Amino acid sequence: MLKTTREYIESLRQLKLNLYLLGEKVEDWVNNPIIKPSTNAVAMTYKLAHDPKTEALAVTESMLTGKKVNRFNSLFKSPDDMVSKIKLQRELGQRTACCFQRCVGMDGINATFSATCEIDEKYGTDYHQRFRKWLEYVQEDDLCVAGAMTDVKGHRGVSPSQQEDPDMFVHVVERRDDGVVIRGAKANITGTVNSHEMLLMPTLRMLEEDKDYAVCCAVPTDAEGITHIYGRQSCDTRKLEEGDIDVGNYGFGGHETLSVFENVFVPWERVFMNGEYDFSIMLVERFAAYHRQSYGGCKPGIADVLIGATASMADYNGVRRASHVRDKLGEMIHLSETIHACGLASAHQAWKTKAGNYQSDILLSNICKLNTTRFPYEITRLAEDIAGGILVTTPSEKDFKHPKIGKYVDKYLKGDPAYSTEERYRMLTLIHAMCFGVVAPSYHTESMHGAGSPQAQKIMIERESDMGSKQHLARSIAGIDEREDPLD
Ligand code: SF4
Ligand code: FE
Repeated sequence: MLKTTREYIESLRQLKLNLYLLGEKVEDWVNNPIIKPSTNAVAMTYKLAHDPKTEALAVTESMLTGKKVNRFNSLFKSPDDMVSKIKLQRELGQRTACCFQRCVGMDGINATFSATCEIDEKYGTDYHQRFRKWLEYVQEDDLCVAGAMTDVKGHRGVSPSQQEDPDMFVHVVERRDDGVVIRGAKANITGTVNSHEMLLMPTLRMLEEDKDYAVCCAVPTDAEGITHIYGRQSCDTRKLEEGDIDVGNYGFGGHETLSVFENVFVPWERVFMNGEYDFSIMLVERFAAYHRQSYGGCKPGIADVLIGATASMADYNGVRRASHVRDKLGEMIHLSETIHACGLASAHQAWKTKAGNYQSDILLSNICKLNTTRFPYEITRLAEDIAGGILVTTPSEKDFKHPKIGKYVDKYLKGDPAYSTEERYRMLTLIHAMCFGVVAPSYHTESMHGAGSPQAQKIMIERESDMGSKQHLARSIAGIDEREDPLD
């Protein structure tokens, strides 16, 4: 059953999260002013499923039950289905101008679905059936799932089992008749506090000695032994101040946590990989390809807002028609649409897995993400260029509304008199929030490291592009190998 926005928020209240923020335990996170915008962003994924205008994007048929489910809990049934995923993400990026958090779960669900099928085929295990059952439960209750892949990783130069501290990667510390006990921590986990479930996946290739680290499982976000520590964001305490201007994006935001698993028990029906280390990399690469493709949806959607804000600033400054401004706005659009085009292309080239769901094209997904590690930096650079230095020197809303000095701020921060100072003010803080502040946690840094840092994409791109066939083409054209005769 598709939850309404209100039902979703009510369901969050039922959780008993062990959550810390700014050194304090948070009991009422649903109403916490720092956290609330991020809950609003996820709530938008529920809202779109009930809006007749967006229903076709946000709702799809379950591959498991045939029932209507939110796309974020669905398995991709075709390349078209995946195109809809990208369009939905763009729509949500436009509506929230931030990370709406629910995609990691969706991408993790699809990767785990196909990988478990192939583990079972090799080892005769029953992970796939367990996973289907858990996913049916998630779909039926329209739960929000936080995908959790990134381990804290400790010494990056050594494998999980070689770490001085064995807890640098989540691992199984005990196997019992009724399940496993896990320990470790996952970092930079998106949307945890707004989720009912976490889907834990291994973070890299494993060797036999890393067996205990090759673990994939689902746990409720409030399971005993889990502690979530809320990540700081630049300018986050602006949300604690009065007024709604200085935050920039008052309504929405993203969040990440450091989530610690201190001997957490996971029953067998929620364990989807337990020591099959040779499948760890398959799960990682499939998830990564899905999520690197996802950036072809959310980032252009967010950029639509930033480009609109930048054009508005040009209006307020009276330079909208200047040729260099139009050139720069055109460049921003070109960069953003290139990212989107890669996301769509990798959907169109999707292929069917043995389990029956579709996998985004791995090469094109990685191209999408590698562009995303670069282009948002240029997009924000151009936004800052057009907005002007006032972007980082605006007085506060309190000064603007001050009974004595407010009139000075109002008078001297005005641009084109056709627009109010407040309008200009609000647009400046929005751009500020998107470039430096509370977006996801910031538009460009998240674009750099979310779904894997750039070198990970370079490695995949090199591996996925069939260099042998390219060399053969060159050898044939150069006359080293036999030339192709068009008359043959
Ligand atoms: Fe979704 Fe983008 Fe956030 Fe990843 S960064 S969860 S793709 S909105
Ligand atoms: Fe992300």
